[in-house]
Amino acid sequence: MAPALVDETTQDLTNQAIAKDLVNHAKAHASNGVSNGSVDALSELNASRLRITLTNDSRTIPPPTSSQVKSQNACTDHMITATWTATEGWHDPELKPYGPFSMMPNASVLHYGTECFEGMKVFRGDDGKLRLFRPDRNCARMLISATRVALPVFPPLELEKLIKMLVAVDAEKWLPKTRPGNLLYLRPAMIGTHAALGVQRPQEALLFVIMCMFPNLDVPISAAAMTSGIINGEGPPPQHLSTTNPGLKLLASQDDIVRAWPGGFGYAKVGGNYGPTLAAQGEARSRGYDQILWLFGEEKYVTEAGASNFMVVWRTKEGRVEMVTAPLDDRMILDGVMRRSTLELARERLSGGDHCEMEPLSVVERKFSMLEMEQAILDGRMLEAFVCGTAVSTTQLSLRVPG
Ligand SMILES: *Cc1c(COP(=O)(O)O)cnc(C)c1O
Repeated sequence: MAPALVDETTQDLTNQAIAKDLVNHAKAHASNGVSNGSVDALSELNASRLRITLTNDSRTIPPPTSSQVKSQNACTDHMITATWTATEGWHDPELKPYGPFSMMPNASVLHYGTECFEGMKVFRGDDGKLRLFRPDRNCARMLISATRVALPVFPPLELEKLIKMLVAVDAEKWLPKTRPGNLLYLRPAMIGTHAALGVQRPQEALLFVIMCMFPNLDVPISAAAMTSGIINGEGPPPQHLSTTNPGLKLLASQDDIVRAWPGGFGYAKVGGNYGPTLAAQGEARSRGYDQILWLFGEEKYVTEAGASNFMVVWRTKEGRVEMVTAPLDDRMILDGVMRRSTLELARERLSGGDHCEMEPLSVVERKFSMLEMEQAILDGRMLEAFVCGTAVSTTQLSLRVPG
């Protein structure tokens, strides 16, 4: 018998390492809580220790249609930063004027992609109130993403508090009450700043939160948009697909490019998932498509579209109506806040019962292939397809089998 090259006990390194990080974190958190004065306890991220330095160079807000806003380059006056070191833990977070960072050229993130981020929106309602949409989910996901790329753990609730503090300071001016229905985009992120070229877990990191003005992405590049409005209640009312309203156009990924794979990091919002897709995305755009529809494997399983989750509503061959989307269990797709919300709403409101005004549907999270989609379209069983994500809200697709 050939000698075993792989020791069984070394399998599943990633999951074991991540689990260990989280358990250690929970233990440290618990021991900090009793405040026994232990010198070894690392400081925890603590929003109540925020140090505030306001800008004395307050900028003017560019008009919503300016190129600065379109390119998402109009950031608000302030940002949140918090540094972490392996020896001391989290330092006091700061709210300070928006501006450049300085770091050494050998910083970990610049070489090894130790970066993760979140994307969320703060809305100014018609009632004048500011609202975040399920920020706890984003903060919990940021912890998962950070852990995947060996960045430090933190209590998600403290990040949520920091985000709200930035909103409290900047939204009054940058999201004025005179612009109800408008929004700002929030970008929490973390980077490994440890200055050393050795390939290792960074010993220093920087957490930061910035906020910028956001263009109206509800209008796809290829065509006029249709937002179904089921999530945010904004935009035009739901419409049925028609030939006059083509919706989003997606280009199915080819065999030479895979976004994510089992055992990889598709489920984490880490920079490493996006840089390698930009050339293909640029190519798709230059050919008149809005985004890439990411397929996986020989079966051409449909996973997600660009940086949003993908869903179809079809009639099964047996005649039932189903809303289908890719599953989370193989950890290839992102656990989208909008995905969850859409599925919850559909299960609650569209699956039958007193409040359901349409033919009830069942919600199914499972693998499904391009072939199944094609067949449903050819059979006339496809009812609709849409993408959902914070950036795109919910946008329908045009459905057509080419050729
Ligand atoms: C951010 C993102 C989504 C959408 O997640 P939301 O939490 O709904 O904004 C989906 N897929 C990918 C790859 C993403 O990066």
